[in-house]
Amino acid sequence: MGRSQTGRLALRAAVMAATGGGMSLAYNSSSIFGKERGDAVSVRHKMEAAGWKVPDRASQEAALKGTSRTNPLDMLVIGGGATGCGAALDAATRGLRVGLVEREDFAAGTSSRSTKLVHGGVRYLEKAVFQLDYGQLKLVFHALEERANILENAPHLCNPLPTMTPCYEWWQIPYYWAGFKLYDLVAGRHMLHISRFFSARESLEVFPTLSKGNPEGKSLKGTLVYYDGQMNDSRLNVALACTASLAGASVLNHAEAITLYKDEVTGKVIGARIRNNLTGKEFDVYAKVVVNAAGPFCDEVRKLSDEKALSMIAPSSGVHIVLPDYYSPEAMGLIVPKTKDGRVVFMLPWMGRTVAGTTDSVTPITMLPEPHEEEIQFILDAISDYLCIKVRRTDVLSAWSGIRPLASDPTAKDTASISRDHVVVTDDHGLVTITGGKWTTYRSMAEDAVDAAIQVGKLQPQRGCVTEHLALIGADGFDPSYFTILTQQYVRMKRTHGGKIVPGAFDTAAAKHLVHSYGGMAQRVALIAQMEGLGKRLAHGYPVLEAEVAYCARYEYCESAVDFIARRCRLAFLDTDAAGRALPRVIEILAAEHKWDKWRKKQEVQLAKAFLETFKSSHNAQFDDGKHKVK
Ligand SMILES: Cc1cc2nc3c(=O)[nH]c(=O)nc-3n(C[C@H](O)[C@H](O)[C@H](O)COP(=O)(O)OP(=O)(O)OC[C@H]3O[C@@H](n4cnc5c(N)ncnc54)[C@H](O)[C@@H]3O)c2cc1C
Repeated sequence: MGRSQTGRLALRAAVMAATGGGMSLAYNSSSIFGKERGDAVSVRHKMEAAGWKVPDRASQEAALKGTSRTNPLDMLVIGGGATGCGAALDAATRGLRVGLVEREDFAAGTSSRSTKLVHGGVRYLEKAVFQLDYGQLKLVFHALEERANILENAPHLCNPLPTMTPCYEWWQIPYYWAGFKLYDLVAGRHMLHISRFFSARESLEVFPTLSKGNPEGKSLKGTLVYYDGQMNDSRLNVALACTASLAGASVLNHAEAITLYKDEVTGKVIGARIRNNLTGKEFDVYAKVVVNAAGPFCDEVRKLSDEKALSMIAPSSGVHIVLPDYYSPEAMGLIVPKTKDGRVVFMLPWMGRTVAGTTDSVTPITMLPEPHEEEIQFILDAISDYLCIKVRRTDVLSAWSGIRPLASDPTAKDTASISRDHVVVTDDHGLVTITGGKWTTYRSMAEDAVDAAIQVGKLQPQRGCVTEHLALIGADGFDPSYFTILTQQYVRMKRTHGGKIVPGAFDTAAAKHLVHSYGGMAQRVALIAQMEGLGKRLAHGYPVLEAEVAYCARYEYCESAVDFIARRCRLAFLDTDAAGRALPRVIEILAAEHKWDKWRKKQEVQLAKAFLETFKSSHNAQFDDGKHKVK
């Protein structure tokens, strides 16, 4: 970080501390559009006028309710995953009047349950080469461009991650070397770091838990290391929702589209009946175009428009497990390119723990898919062949399942083909559906969906798409060394059991955690910790602070305990037990923020416990770590 930037951040910290943390923040408005171009400048001005505070939930709901047949939105998006929030942001920054409803929470569906890779798809490159498939090559090329955009626009939530491919046969070295060099070449100027060969000795130095020999008794010959991006998926999703909101979109979580309205004469979709799932109250929203971004649930929404609609989604579930940090080095992943049954399994460091996965199984479509014991066991077996440590079922801290929205285009001639790329279809009633693709390509999917909506609704945007270089909330002010401002200039004020408030140091772990979760907004959280006595950790062994609960309730539409433990902080994904231990305090702080009564608090406990059950997979799994009951 340059001296001037350090100075700017320090000055900001000082001003914020001096103003007592008032949210009339001395926040440098040099913009979240750090690397903006052209039309994005005018969008920035609009966003600056919003004063850096997202409109509250009540005003977002009121804006949606304020629509009518004669005063419709330009576009209503159904679904607040990566695709839907990306579409809302795209449309709002083009100057369109847009609303978004999400029936649970932003990223409650697949978008919080990914492998967390921002990737071009090295596997698809292999296919492109061996099947001479130019289409696959184009997909990789395109995804690599989008990988670069994500890392540029949300640098606080993403990082380049080196990943090791172990070679236990000599022929594998030139084979993978050529593959990764081609990956570098296709990435071109978007390459993160150049791939390289590590000798067996170097590999073991970097990755001490790597096995020196494989189950067939062959010794490690070396490894190839390549780079992709890694992200905090649900926080990136929430950043998209909040940035869209700042740009003028009316985004509302816990609001479900239950019916679509059509014009009696034209038969075109003109709006939706929405149920606020927190209050149970229903209201209508009208829009010139409705965009269906409901991910694996998009057929459900398509059937609201046309009950005879053919299904597009072939759902497939993927399970991940989380293991202690010592399974992998802090900054090196492992890819098992071919498991015994030919699948790919990753083992990646993530947020201080190790994530391993994934699987591929046919599944019913549900909001709460559960990992099955055999899927967990499959992942454990796959990685154990490559590690020199005991891989134990009892080490699994959390396990979750997500549903891939693998889609085929119902209007395509070859309807049997299921593509990993995305599909945009408009039905006879003008409902635009966008699905498929992957997290990495959410932005271009959103762009295609908004382009389609503009055509269908004959909308008149003020400008073209500007999201390619549109920095998300938190990107401004972020710098990898920014955490030092927190450690040096803030204290964590903590309430003791006796009720006294005592100061504590802003340790490096907590500071880094805040900066990599909130970017330039980390100081807002630090101020809450300092000024409101909310500086305690929520769970032993994790740097998540009480202040985050208050911040997320005020600035990130965090409406329930599950919203917090699963999507705002990632405790449910990292360690189900730790999330359970944090619950009482999370609920207490949310209750104070949202003025919950006793009944609501009780309900929150029940809902959160039921949610966590689906993570630990206690219905199917057999934990034996002394804390869990073995069935
Ligand atoms: C196991 C697994 C691993 C993956 N790993 C990666 C990876 O490493 N990198 C990568 O790039 N991609 C990855 N993906 C793909 C990526 O996660 C998905 O493509 C992406 O998250 C899909 O986002 P979405 O917004 O389309 O769907 P979702 O995130 O599912 O969002 C749809 C939303 O619509 C809401 N909804 C549904 N019906 C309604 C309604 N009637 N009213 C209001 N809201 C409604 C749902 O609640 C849901 O939140 C992975 C996927 C899986 C399953």
